[in-house]
Amino acid sequence: MPKCPNCKEEIEELRNIVSGSNEYTLFSIGNDTEYEEKDFAEDYVVNEYWCPECQEVLFTDEEKAIDFLKGINQDELTKTMEEKLKQIKEKKNVNLPEM
Ligand SMILES: [Zn+2]
Repeated sequence: MPKCPNCKEEIEELRNIVSGSNEYTLFSIGNDTEYEEKDFAEDYVVNEYWCPECQEVLFTDEEKAIDFLKGINQDELTKTMEEKLKQIKEKKNVNLPEM
């Protein structure tokens, strides 16, 4: 299970808040009016993922939040990427025609 980098608790979920606007229809019934709730349209001006234990906002990026829950360590991810790039570069060098 991933650990919160702030409070070090093991967490299996993140809380998420997304901003947007709620659409309503205002209609009349006789002498009265009433609102009917329509769709919620997210605008993602605010998109925060926070720890349920310490309430610290850990991510503002869905991809990073998902990677975190899947237990993908960012450092390891970077290392793997660097190694892959190195391998690709080395391969390219091998395949390059000699001058
Ligand atoms: Zn926490």
